[in-house]
Amino acid sequence: MINYERLDNLLIELIKIDSLSRKERAVAMRLQREMESLGATVFIDDAGEKVGGNVGNVIAHFPGTMANATPLLLSAHMDTVVPGEGITPIRNGDILRSDGRTVLGGDDKSGVAIICEALRVIRDDNLPCGAVDVVFTICEEAGLIGAKCLDVSRLRARTGLVLDSDSVGFLFTKAPAANRMEFRIHGLEAHAGVCPEKGINAIQVAAEGIARMRLGRIDHETTANIGVVEGGMAVNIVPNQVILRGEARSHSQEKLDYQTTHMRQCLEEAATRHTLELDGKHHTARVEAKIDRDYDRMDVPDNAPIVKLVHSAAKNLNLEVKTLATGGGCDANVLNQKGLVVANLSTGMRDIHTVNEWLDLNDLHLSARIVLEILRLNAAG
Ligand SMILES: [Zn+2]
Repeated sequence: MINYERLDNLLIELIKIDSLSRKERAVAMRLQREMESLGATVFIDDAGEKVGGNVGNVIAHFPGTMANATPLLLSAHMDTVVPGEGITPIRNGDILRSDGRTVLGGDDKSGVAIICEALRVIRDDNLPCGAVDVVFTICEEAGLIGAKCLDVSRLRARTGLVLDSDSVGFLFTKAPAANRMEFRIHGLEAHAGVCPEKGINAIQVAAEGIARMRLGRIDHETTANIGVVEGGMAVNIVPNQVILRGEARSHSQEKLDYQTTHMRQCLEEAATRHTLELDGKHHTARVEAKIDRDYDRMDVPDNAPIVKLVHSAAKNLNLEVKTLATGGGCDANVLNQKGLVVANLSTGMRDIHTVNEWLDLNDLHLSARIVLEILRLNAAG
C-alpha cells in the first residue's frame, strides 16, 4: 500500500530544494540517492552541458522481477518556474500551498514524489514488477529542452507515462504542436522632430501588422499569441527596429502551418506599405522571420496498450480516468516525437505557474495508488 505520510514528507522535502530550470543539481543528487536506495542503476546524461545547466537528466533503470512484462517508462520533470527559490510549503489540512511569495513547485515535484513512492512500495513489499525506466528531466519549463536532449536509445521502455498535469482523474493523450516565432521588423532611423519624413517607424509597421492578425483562440484546436514586444530607443527617434515574439499551437499540423504563415504575412504586408525615396534610394520596411518548431503534437490513440492499462488500473480502484486533449505541451510531446508512446497522467497540482499554486494531498495519494496499480497490473501481464 502507498504510505501517504512518507509520500507527503518526500513531496515537501523535494519542494524545499530549489530547482529552477538549469539549476536542478541539488534535487537531481537527492533523486539519484533515492533511486539507488531502491535498487536502480542510475546515470545522469549530458543534457546539462548541452543546455547550459548544472546537471543532466537523471535516468534510473530498475531491472524488475518479471522478465515477460512490458518495460514501462515513468517520467516527471525536476525543474520549477519562477518565482521558485526558497519555497516554503504550508500545509493546511490536506491542502498544500506556498507562502504566497513563490510557486509551490507541485509542478512537477508531485509527479517526482509519486514515482518514488510507488517504486518504494514495490521494493519494500517485494511486489512483482516489470522493468521500469525512470527519467527525471531538467528544463521542461524552459521549452522541454531536457527531454529534447534525452537519448531514448538508453531506455528499454517504449511506452509509459509522464506525470505532469493537474486535476486527478485525467489522462492527457492529445496535445498540440507548437511553433515559436521571432519577427524582427526593420524600419529606418531618423530624428523625430527635425526630419521624420526620412524615417520609417518600425513600431508603427509592427502595430499595423499585429492589428490585422487573428490571435487568441482561433478555433477549437488552434491558438495564437504575440507575447513580447521590444523596440525603440527614445521618444525623439523614429525607431528602426522592433522585435516581436509569439507562438501558435494546433492539434492540426495544417492549421498550425496556416496560422504561422498568416502571422508572418500580416507583418510583411504592413511592411510593404511603408516605403520611402531618400536621396534617389528606395527604402522599404522589412521583416526578418525566425520560426522554429517548438514541439510536435502528441496523439496517443485510445486503444494504445498504455491507455488501456491506465483505465484498467483505475477501474480496479473504483476510479475513472478520462482521456483528454490539452492545449499545453509537455515532455510527453517530445517523447512521442522520439517514437515512444507516452501519455500524461494527472497528479493533483492546481493553479500552476502562479504564486497561488496549490495541491490537494488526497489527489496526490489517489494518483500514487493508480501508478502503483499500473505497475502491479503490468507485471501480471
Ligand atoms: Zn510541469
